[in-house]
Amino acid sequence: MAKIQMKTPLVEMDGDEMTRILWKWIKDILIKPYVELNTEYYDLGLPERERTKDKVTLDASAATKKYGVAVKCATITPNAARMPEYNLSQMWKSPNGTIRAYLDGTVFRAPILVKGITPYIPTWTKPITIARHAYGDVYKNVEMTVPQGSKAELVMTDKDGNEKRETIFDFEKSAGIIQGLHNLDSSISAFARACFNYALSTKQDIWFAAKDTISKKYDHRFKDIFSEIFESEYKDKFAEAGIEYFYTLIDDAVARVIRSHGGYIWACKNYDGDVMSDMVSTAFGSLGMMTSVLVSPDGVYEYEAAHGTVQRHYYKHLKGEETSTNSVATIFAWSGALRKRGELDGIKALCDFADKLEKATIDTIEDGAMTGDLYILSSLPNKRKVNSREFLEEINTRLSQMM
Ligand code: NAP
Ligand code: MG
Repeated sequence: MAKIQMKTPLVEMDGDEMTRILWKWIKDILIKPYVELNTEYYDLGLPERERTKDKVTLDASAATKKYGVAVKCATITPNAARMPEYNLSQMWKSPNGTIRAYLDGTVFRAPILVKGITPYIPTWTKPITIARHAYGDVYKNVEMTVPQGSKAELVMTDKDGNEKRETIFDFEKSAGIIQGLHNLDSSISAFARACFNYALSTKQDIWFAAKDTISKKYDHRFKDIFSEIFESEYKDKFAEAGIEYFYTLIDDAVARVIRSHGGYIWACKNYDGDVMSDMVSTAFGSLGMMTSVLVSPDGVYEYEAAHGTVQRHYYKHLKGEETSTNSVATIFAWSGALRKRGELDGIKALCDFADKLEKATIDTIEDGAMTGDLYILSSLPNKRKVNSREFLEEINTRLSQMM
């Protein structure tokens, strides 16, 4: 069988620890036998980030913008413990943060569902994808403790030097606390466009929620921007695709999500997304089954697993012990990126390969062969635990029959 040819290179960002080991195995066992892989390779592993003073992360971001599609392995975000471990000259910033800021992107997280693993909310039979606005609000706040007897005011000075003031509170009777938040029309608009584009590209409804009844200017601005952009740029495209945009209050959204069957994208303000993405991913089961896509407002896609480098398993692997690490989210990052590359370049065989790779992965688990994290959760009577490498070989047994 001739290998599937690619046109435009896919940007490939390698990473760290256990996921770096899986990365190579996935390519060798599941992709290279079938696809003449054409990637532009960037090593985002921590040693190379240290060696290049993190320039490699910026180069990889620029390449992603240039070519339009990237696939990324999990990477270490250094903390104090990593400084001596990797002999670092600086505590380099999170690569994901750097790439997201460069592309002004929004992250969409979606669980992969398989038979035998029931979400904690059993009526969630379809995935719920969460989109988190990753700019501003409490994450870029300014806050103060206020001594009793103080008065706190909000002051805004315009470009001509005119001041606008409003009293926040008169702390006459007690000491207290204050905090200042901001967001940008440009950032909210980019978020809205990324959400609407992703809804179109995945043919799913999109929900957005805020607290506009209480926050009549701040949260209301989010609601208005979403609505203006939807009406003027997306309404017709949504009607054509048969999908909907739905706005409601955040508390109503939470109640509806719990009662729903899934199958939609839930766009969240920054804090709501932080909290709700942990709730939703926990309810769906394993971190190893959660995918993540960064989408820019101008349609650039970067695919990865939502989990980290699985450090504990890596140390076992280094000691020569057997590991049973779940590679599903990383496999789906590859299939997502290859499918998108195939769509953009008009290579149907590449899209079909991505579908088959995903089906072979799910079939493997549903036939009973799974990694330890899933083995604990699965209710299949014939389940058996396999090691990291056996799992990939089991997938390939099924994939090779489909090719
Ligand atoms: P983690 O790598 O996500 O792992 C946390 C724990 O979750 C693991 O110890 C393991 O539990 C379980 N787990 C996660 N993924 C799994 C998988 N694929 N298969 C089986 N079990 C899995 O998070 P972490 O240990 O907090 O972080 C490790 C490193 O990853 C850190 O340096 C952090 O900066 C980085 N990180 C990177 C990204 C990214 O690049 N997107 C995201 C998050 C964290 P058991 O040990 O109980 O088996
Ligand atoms: Mg969180």
